[in-house]
Amino acid sequence: MKPYQMLIDGEWVEARSKKTFDVMNPATDEVIAKVPDAGPEDVDHAVEAARRAFDEGWRDVTAQERGRILLRLAEKMRKELPRLAEIETLNSGKPIVESEFDLGDVATCFEYYGGLATKLHGEVLNVPDNALSMAIKEPLGVAGQIIPWNYPLLMAAWKLAPAICAGCSMVIKPAEQTPLTLLEFARFFEECGLPKGVVNVVTGFGETCGAPLVAHKNVDKIAFTGSMEVGKIIMRTAADTLKKVSLELGGKSPNIFFADADFEAAVDGALFGVFVNQGEVCSAGSRVLVERPIYKKMLDAMVEKAKRIKLGNGLDRATKMGPVVSKEQMERVMRYQEIGRKEAKLAAGGGRAKGEGLERGYFVEPTIFYDVDNSATIAREEIFGPVMAVIPFDKEEDALRIANDTPYGLAAAVWSRDIFKCFRMVKRLQAGIVWVNHMQPTYVEAPWGGYKMSGIGRELGPWGADEYLQVKQVHVNLNEAPIGWY
Ligand code: NDP
Repeated sequence: MKPYQMLIDGEWVEARSKKTFDVMNPATDEVIAKVPDAGPEDVDHAVEAARRAFDEGWRDVTAQERGRILLRLAEKMRKELPRLAEIETLNSGKPIVESEFDLGDVATCFEYYGGLATKLHGEVLNVPDNALSMAIKEPLGVAGQIIPWNYPLLMAAWKLAPAICAGCSMVIKPAEQTPLTLLEFARFFEECGLPKGVVNVVTGFGETCGAPLVAHKNVDKIAFTGSMEVGKIIMRTAADTLKKVSLELGGKSPNIFFADADFEAAVDGALFGVFVNQGEVCSAGSRVLVERPIYKKMLDAMVEKAKRIKLGNGLDRATKMGPVVSKEQMERVMRYQEIGRKEAKLAAGGGRAKGEGLERGYFVEPTIFYDVDNSATIAREEIFGPVMAVIPFDKEEDALRIANDTPYGLAAAVWSRDIFKCFRMVKRLQAGIVWVNHMQPTYVEAPWGGYKMSGIGRELGPWGADEYLQVKQVHVNLNEAPIGWY
């Protein structure tokens, strides 16, 4: 079992309390590492370091140099990808092929923001006077970043890369369940030229490490990805110091299938939409809306394929679905499976997965409920596990009404060969991301974030960097004479 330290001010340190906590392998229920259990005093230390790094040099580092640091980090990530992918799978449970894919995206994210650093610019404005008016973009200062466990290093990359690109310094807290790949990645900072204190990593729990970071008076902005409940707490706490806040929260995304969709693609798209990454996906297409003429046929086809999904240890390349991240998460998903049995009809799965090699891990069966009413708990609450709710509909208007009848608004997908119908839906779906004839493709170039209660702000693309910038208006008077008012 490996003991880890955390990174503050360029030094690898214990928690000041010397306390640690265990990190588990969800496939085997074994402890694989110990990490520091950071408290408010460690958060203070990290924020001080980030503030000093920002004020005493980082704010003046050129965009070109920031870009080069990001590109070096991307290159290093690609070199170390196989080793870190294995650690990602050991710690999160996800299939190794998915870890490799995620970490490739981590490198791409750093490459993108490495290129963007020199392209961020302000504007010169046409004001009605003999003057030069400018809108200049400047870094916000110190950012606090709090991330979840479902895509551990990728969610870190979505926050670190744009913040470095924009010129902020930062303190990042991984989820208690999955801190390992971020700690490994932080070892690359120094050799890639990142000055000490610019990125600090604190490992700890939400209430004792995340909350003091949000409340800290020296933190200028909080970027958070996680649940709606914690998002609300963060917004309330940040109000005391009027921090900028960006929130990437959950979803209950509709995946909508019309009868004229390509049938094979539809079946695949529905299964992938909710079962990829064990269903631990904020944009999971967990509500599958199917038009009546293909309802029965599609349900049967999905059930047949879902029963053949190979569960197992993520390190086995044949595995298509690993364990969920923790015992608590497994119990939470199983509670929803129980609720679903009372609210709807069960077509596949419905419990903890059994079988050779699955005895100790947190494996749950890919589960399909059908004839689900959109008012049911399993259609309203985010389960964050492999549970699909299939809902029939009759007309386009019904599909739209059901799809939008949720407090969430992260993502939606619509499948049809009728381009007019697709675009009518695109226009009226209340979601920050809408896919047509696909579900889940995510690109660093395109904005990511939610409508309604799925969040505030956008990650990725230039929008992601803007979340770490503030705009200064500069007015340069070109008249030498007094204004002559008095
Ligand atoms: P949580 O909201 O429980 O936790 C997210 C992070 O917040 C963790 O690091 C957690 O720490 C921390 N945290 C918990 N309580 C507090 C607090 N009071 N103050 C500050 N920080 C706190 O989410 P999960 O980790 O369980 O992740 C799953 C959720 O994340 C899902 O709802 C999912 O939809 C959402 N998500 C959204 C994405 C998006 O892009 N929209 C992407 C990925 C996930 P700790 O774990 O140490 O307790």
